[in-house]
Amino acid sequence: MKMSRMGARPEKMAPKDAETINHKLLVQAGFVRQLMAGVYTYLPFGLRVLRNIEKIIREEMDAIGGEEILMPMLHPAEIWKKTGGWDSVDILFKLTSRTDRDYALGSSQEEVVTPTMKEFIRSYRDLPRMPYHIQWKFRDELRSKSGIMRGREFLMKDMYSFHLDQADFDRFYEIAKSAYLKVFSRMGLDAKVTEASGGDFSEKISYEFEVLTDAGEVNILYCDSCEFCANVDDLSNYKEGDKCPKCGKSKLKPSVAAEVGNVFDLGQKYSKAFDMKVANDKGEMIYPIMGCYGIGITRTMGVIVEKFHDDKGIIWPKNIAPFMVHLIDIKQNDKALEIYQLLQAKGIEVLWDDRDINVGVKFSDADLIGCPWRLVVSEKSMSTNEIEVKARQNDEPEMMNVESFINSLKSD
Ligand code: ATP
Ligand code: MG
Repeated sequence: MKMSRMGARPEKMAPKDAETINHKLLVQAGFVRQLMAGVYTYLPFGLRVLRNIEKIIREEMDAIGGEEILMPMLHPAEIWKKTGGWDSVDILFKLTSRTDRDYALGSSQEEVVTPTMKEFIRSYRDLPRMPYHIQWKFRDELRSKSGIMRGREFLMKDMYSFHLDQADFDRFYEIAKSAYLKVFSRMGLDAKVTEASGGDFSEKISYEFEVLTDAGEVNILYCDSCEFCANVDDLSNYKEGDKCPKCGKSKLKPSVAAEVGNVFDLGQKYSKAFDMKVANDKGEMIYPIMGCYGIGITRTMGVIVEKFHDDKGIIWPKNIAPFMVHLIDIKQNDKALEIYQLLQAKGIEVLWDDRDINVGVKFSDADLIGCPWRLVVSEKSMSTNEIEVKARQNDEPEMMNVESFINSLKSD
């Protein structure tokens, strides 16, 4: 992509009203624009990041048997009335049409997925099933000041599972948990899994995936020696300094964290509400056990910025970065075009700052945007085919032959 052709560009100054790092950097670097509190436009850089996060999630959900669908955002009030959510879900956005019909904007999709899957799941042979989708959600959140980490409109991956019995849910939960940990580690995030009570949905157990960051809203206690982690906003059984109840080796430490994903055991709440009955192997009609599995895609993007930045800008993990390479030419010349085309031909995603502006601005914009590699084409490159290569997190560049750089990326 050529920066000279882009409408969205980095700015000199961060927005004054931004309270969090992700909001500041994402706006200043030209990834997003805020329409109002909690509602954002994703500009070309931002959209590329979302697509990269989605890709990782899709691959891991497909790998555990998920089947991708796309459910609507506009829901008839009736399905929400059936489960009681119309009156009990306080964050539900409701609207009335000009013909006086009531609708809700989807905050979650149990009310849609259950009657949909009821049509296809008739016997134990059809179980388990794991439909998922990646779709915008709407929630009337009271506070929305954490940048893209708490939106009133935000992108989520939500998977729903249908099981013959509790044992099968428990079996699948372990599989989903490993897949979630894989998703987050592919994004460069170390997620801790908490056990917590079921929140809005039911009295059943839920598990949260938490990433330590001051920008989060959850208070946790965790152990350095094992994976124990508890949400202390819900579970007050533990306190700071207690011996780890799991391994007994270390004392529990407090931290603030952001919930990037979670799993709820929904039990039979929704299968009963929609009278979804399935024949078991004895021919008896049972209500399937359901689970739901969310990952906040836009929130995760915000968390990545909170975790990976310095005073110059964002430092995107490789798998998430909007482009692998940020190409800068000191003087406009044919060599930069040649390298740009070569990188593209080799399948390397490249952003070329081909703008006719001060090169100092190009350098500071490159740091702000945060692609993993910065390449500089100088006068010398014309004769030697050598370019200046710098990893975003390093201070010192090195001179390298273009082909060697490409090969090093490919073998990485
Ligand atoms: P929270 O406690 O942060 O409000 P939640 O328990 O309401 O989250 P879920 O309903 O399970 O969350 O949604 C699944 C995932 O969607 C969460 O783990 C989180 O990553 C993300 N998420 C939830 N609410 C928001 C929001 N307002 N903005 C952005 N992401 C969100
Ligand atoms: Mg919530």
